[in-house]
Amino acid sequence: ARNVSAPTSPSQDKLLGGLLSAAFDESSCQSRYKSNLYRKPSPFPLSPYLVQKLRKYEAYHKKCGPGTKRYRRAIKQLKAGRNAGDSECKYVVWFPCNGLGNRMLTIASTFLYALLTDRVLLMHVAPEQEGLFCEPFPGSSWVLPGSFPHNNPQKLHIGAPESYANMLKNSVVRNDDPASVPASSLPPYVYLHVEQFQLKLSDNVFCDEDQAMLGKFTWMIIKSDSYFAPALFLTPMFEEELAKMFPKKEAVFHHLGRYLFHPTNRVWGIVRRYYEAYLARVDEKIGFQIRIFPEKPIKFENMYDQLMRCVREQRLLPELGAAEQPTNTTADAGKVKAVLIASLYSGYYEKIRGMYYESPTKSGEIVAVFQPSHEEQQQYTSNEHNQKALAEIYLLSYCDKITMSAWSTFGYVAYSFAGVKPWILLRPDWNKETSEVACVRSTSAEPCLHSPPILSCRAKRDVDVATIKPYVRHCEDVGFGLKLF
Ligand code: GDP
Repeated sequence: ARNVSAPTSPSQDKLLGGLLSAAFDESSCQSRYKSNLYRKPSPFPLSPYLVQKLRKYEAYHKKCGPGTKRYRRAIKQLKAGRNAGDSECKYVVWFPCNGLGNRMLTIASTFLYALLTDRVLLMHVAPEQEGLFCEPFPGSSWVLPGSFPHNNPQKLHIGAPESYANMLKNSVVRNDDPASVPASSLPPYVYLHVEQFQLKLSDNVFCDEDQAMLGKFTWMIIKSDSYFAPALFLTPMFEEELAKMFPKKEAVFHHLGRYLFHPTNRVWGIVRRYYEAYLARVDEKIGFQIRIFPEKPIKFENMYDQLMRCVREQRLLPELGAAEQPTNTTADAGKVKAVLIASLYSGYYEKIRGMYYESPTKSGEIVAVFQPSHEEQQQYTSNEHNQKALAEIYLLSYCDKITMSAWSTFGYVAYSFAGVKPWILLRPDWNKETSEVACVRSTSAEPCLHSPPILSCRAKRDVDVATIKPYVRHCEDVGFGLKLF
């Protein structure tokens, strides 16, 4: 018989118009090819320039990544306690902070930074994060080898002497004339502490003169709790490149997230089983993500009322009719709307499900309510817990409409993957128990950077960038925050 099993390379469609590399073996990470079949096509065009940039990055990562002689050489220099003046490869090492949503936002931001500054992105993978994501770069790894000499997350804090801000303070480096500083005179690595501090992004490094200085270090370590990608758009030297990569700025996390994050087959199994069992055959999917933060507790009744007000005002679910009403024959009768609830608690699910169990809808539509898990407690350091969290972020991202709690990075990731503008359930003012406005529609599918950088940098004069840059505005849920749109 004729051999017809020619090797099949995934089609352009499967590779999301070239966003994904064709160099992977499909079976090793099924979600890479299958996940997007559960979503509508991306509403945001992909720039060929970004595609080109990603392929170039992949080649660079393969050339310099763990296991290569270039990597070994760079590690040797790091261990020798000096910065190399002539390194062929430069690195940025990401360390984790906070929960999964925060981590995904900072990994994407760090990757964008790596693309802009020609660095190889390596990730310190803590046990709770092991086995969540597939490798994103073909023929190499983004996992920081355990033998990395500065592997202690405890040493990464705002007061660390290796932090760039402290190096400046202690005159270890200068940023007034970066060109005059020989790279070989610098310490072996620099630490960037990009964290929310007094409602601002600490360390203030999004300026040309600082970036020129930082570019001289072969090794950089980053720890951040913030989606700092918008801050890169505010750094003058990156503006032109970013404009080519992202003609539509609302799609930064959408594209980078869909490029980088692919659940491993194990986590994908959870996603796929759930989706096929409960969501695959419905007419519309509506996601509710309810997140209660320990620093701003909200009573269950108040949160539930607010959610229901939002649902009514925005007409997210069909209205209830009288129980004795005859079966309806409107055009929508018999259509199934699925409500997918992500929350640590089961109360919202119980009540909403009960409502549509006891009463019919006026239109005759069917409302089916689901919640994959209710873990009760958030556990940053449990691997199993994180697998479920990741699965739920993905399930939410298959919804046609999303309503989410203010401030939640978990929700930000889900709606950005989906490429939809969510309804955000606003947080009550600090001295109130309830929010007067139930929810507002986001103007963008981008996540919010909760704490803006101080833009005037050394000048110390604070400016509101939302008033001067046409592509950033303040977030609906975090008034001083910034988001691209
Ligand atoms: P944020 O705190 O809302 O910004 O989101 P993060 O993802 O950074 O941290 C919250 C963590 O709590 C998540 O990573 C999960 O571990 C857990 N969590 C919060 N809400 C949910 C939920 O609806 N489902 C699951 N499975 N976990 C959740």
